[in-house]
Amino acid sequence: MGSLPQETFNPLDPSTFTKESYAVVDFIADYYREVEQYPVRSRVEPGYLRELLPDSPPCSPQSIETILEDVRNDIFPGLTHWQSPNFYAYFQANASTAGFLGEMLCTGLNTVGFSWISSPAATELESIVMDWMGKMLKLPNDFLFSGGRGGGGVLHGSTCEAVVCTLAAARDTALSKTGGDGISKLVVYASDQTHFTVQKASKLIGIPPSNFRAIPTASATGYALTAESVRSAMEADVANGLVPLYLCATIGTTAAGAVDPLLELGQVANDYGVWLHVDAAYAGSAGICPEFRHYFDGVELADSISMNPHKWFLTNMDCCCLWLKNPSSLVESLSTNPEILRNKASDAKLVVDYKDWQIALSRRFRALKLWVVMRRYGTANLMKHIRSDVSMAKYFQYLVSTDSRFEVVVPRRFALVCFRLVPVGGGGDDGWDLNCRLIEAVNSSGRAFMTHAVLGGMYVLRFAVGSTLTETRHVEATWKLIQAKADDIYKDLTLSGLSIRAGDKEDPGQK
Ligand SMILES: *Cc1c(COP(=O)(O)O)cnc(C)c1O
Repeated sequence: MGSLPQETFNPLDPSTFTKESYAVVDFIADYYREVEQYPVRSRVEPGYLRELLPDSPPCSPQSIETILEDVRNDIFPGLTHWQSPNFYAYFQANASTAGFLGEMLCTGLNTVGFSWISSPAATELESIVMDWMGKMLKLPNDFLFSGGRGGGGVLHGSTCEAVVCTLAAARDTALSKTGGDGISKLVVYASDQTHFTVQKASKLIGIPPSNFRAIPTASATGYALTAESVRSAMEADVANGLVPLYLCATIGTTAAGAVDPLLELGQVANDYGVWLHVDAAYAGSAGICPEFRHYFDGVELADSISMNPHKWFLTNMDCCCLWLKNPSSLVESLSTNPEILRNKASDAKLVVDYKDWQIALSRRFRALKLWVVMRRYGTANLMKHIRSDVSMAKYFQYLVSTDSRFEVVVPRRFALVCFRLVPVGGGGDDGWDLNCRLIEAVNSSGRAFMTHAVLGGMYVLRFAVGSTLTETRHVEATWKLIQAKADDIYKDLTLSGLSIRAGDKEDPGQK
């Protein structure tokens, strides 16, 4: 007989749980109250944290108060504040009360629903929530479980994961026809604006890098793909004995918010028997508003579509919806049937086992989070959220248009405005240095954070409105900040003797 442990240690004692959770919730609420005051982009130097923290973990327990104090003192300075109302970089990661509460339920219950029996509610709620979300986006019934034609959806952690899985399914479907050594012949198509995740996924699943086509886009189409360019790329590949496999079309590209024409691309994909995936990671959320739904026209021709509620749908990280018309191709590609997981329901093929719809075995109960968001806000408020961001972006676009030193570079589709300072004359300047200087001046002020893109060789500034806390007054103040920083830069240029030709105005300082 071993001796009994002398002290009890219960890391899940309900009364400690209550007390300490409240402390953390209060801490986060204070953070939301204060976040506006922090420099948006972190100002630390690489390696800053190693200097602040001990070399090794503590042996004795420390209090949650001590830990929270260190979060405030040591971690906060190294945060780029994604929840700041002045965060306009990348695409936003919406936090919300409902998203947080849903996440809390998910992480509190901490069940692992890899197969139906491992937590029936997790699987069943996920299937229901995927149908709900699909209906909000008016996806064709073919993508829904309730459509009765074999379609359905799954929650992944990221678009990257969703793309890898659909590509694997497409690859295996193709190889089952062409034979095992055919992989060197398979070709993946995207545009030069498609998220890099498609190229990465294509490499990961064994497509030769030389068989990835990043088809050029142009400013004339607002950096969207054209069906003709895709068709001619496929034609050329077929003529060379290659096999078109997969085409990714995007609703709302990362750099410019461009929308690829789904209907025409779908026809090309269908003509060549190619798997069409629609990446709507960012802009998919806008599809719940009727005025944006037309961008989805043609989705009925796609094999799969994904979008990220963790960007613009008030759902805290992480959450990516993936729908497939024919999930059985995914399951065939990803399923394994180890003895330890065998059970009656799975053996009888009565149920969905989500482990066969993703890379990992273990999975979080994300459906709970999305379910809480949809119920707590309802379609009405979710649409309000999207529309308010879009109208703030429109307003920003208007402000830009009132200052002739600036130009909007691509037509705005959603809540992303791409703009820049018009190049000044002298030294063959293409605006690159000018705009680099401007964005760095804005970002290092700590009062706002934007990121850039390069479109057709042009350096452009991206103003992505969408952080949950952003209000019109923030957009206004940031615009004034941008103008003031531009004033400074022009002053410097004048002093250094460069002539200024901005929007063909004599005096760019005049607004
Ligand atoms: C953000 C984004 C992605 C990547 O999403 P993850 O969930 O981070 O993998 C892919 N495509 C587009 C268009 C995006 O905007």
